[in-house]
Amino acid sequence: MSNATKLIHSIPVDPLTGSISVPIYQTSTFVQEAPGENKGYDYARSNNPTRQVLENIIAELEEGQAASAFASGLAAIDAVVKLLESGDEILAVDDIYGGAFRLFTHIYAKFGIKVKYVDTTDIVNVLDAISAKTKLVYLETPTNPTLKISDIEAIAKIAHHNGSLLCVDNTFASPALQQPIKLGADLVVHSATKYLGGHSDLIAGLVVSSTKELGERIKFIQNASGAILSPHDSWLVIRGIETLHLRVKEHSRNALLVAQYLENHPGVDKVYYPGLKTHLNHDIAARQQSDFGGIVSFTLKEDTTEAAKIVVCSTQLFKLAESLGGVKSLLCHPATMTHKSIPAEKRIAAGVADSLIRLSVGLEDANDLIQDIEQALNKVEELKNKASLASVK
Ligand SMILES: *Cc1c(COP(=O)(O)O)cnc(C)c1O
Repeated sequence: MSNATKLIHSIPVDPLTGSISVPIYQTSTFVQEAPGENKGYDYARSNNPTRQVLENIIAELEEGQAASAFASGLAAIDAVVKLLESGDEILAVDDIYGGAFRLFTHIYAKFGIKVKYVDTTDIVNVLDAISAKTKLVYLETPTNPTLKISDIEAIAKIAHHNGSLLCVDNTFASPALQQPIKLGADLVVHSATKYLGGHSDLIAGLVVSSTKELGERIKFIQNASGAILSPHDSWLVIRGIETLHLRVKEHSRNALLVAQYLENHPGVDKVYYPGLKTHLNHDIAARQQSDFGGIVSFTLKEDTTEAAKIVVCSTQLFKLAESLGGVKSLLCHPATMTHKSIPAEKRIAAGVADSLIRLSVGLEDANDLIQDIEQALNKVEELKNKASLASVK
């Protein structure tokens, strides 16, 4: 069966009423027949039928054995870190999501969990940095915002040989394009806020486990710490997932067209998109992903914050906002937005140049999107011309 068919039919018809849409069980508790005798639900933090449907769907899509739904992507990552103990180490991708960096550095460091960051696009770095203390290898692939790709299968082998778990943040690719558990990952996390929800209307997170045993440990943490996803938001994510394959296919198609356009624009310096042959890790991306997703980043020849600001303030269709993965196109300027807390030197070394712009390519017509970028890039040229004219006078 094709993934699209499987996805649509992984969403069950309500066995009680035949409702084709999953019912929203907006309840805090469940009446028991006798103490401890219930229909599988006792209290809605521990389990809720709507949330459970979402958890089953994502476990199936990621080909895992169990899943838990959380109030945000960060709450999902937090639950994974809680598998560890004081003295354990995490080996993480250096180009990590800023919120995960903050969680590791400012919350878990004080509980005695250390993190080593390496460029995981080269597995030699992983081999060099992994140690007996490493209990968790933590990847994102593709990364944000420079879309670095790491070899999940190779790193899973290294992690397992070392007795470590491998967790992959699969937010950018989504299970429509990449299934890390099939490549050897033990855990997959998602910010379902992005492609899974898909409509920029909620905050949600998911953890998928490759085994029932790991799934039970995450479920225990979910119940003990309490950052559960509400029934209504669970329903919204389910509704988003119904069209995941369709959306991601179109996001990828549009993004490739935008990336190809940018690659040929004289005002553009670098274009980061795993679907381009010029991308450093294009081969690995082509091997482990079925397509390349909707995120494109690029830098300007005029490599200044001012020039980037002109572009991000001049687009009409691309709205200036953090986040990604929704129907409407968004763009952001990482140097002054998502990555502003990182010292300039470190930020630039990580590839986040002053003029770097990240696009979340939406579902509008690709030609309209390209025209929108074109007129914004023209504004930079106009300003440059005015400035050089002024200096001549
Ligand atoms: C947004 C994001 C997160 C955090 O998710 P929230 O839902 O905002 O808490 C984690 N990882 C990646 C790659 C993200 O893009």
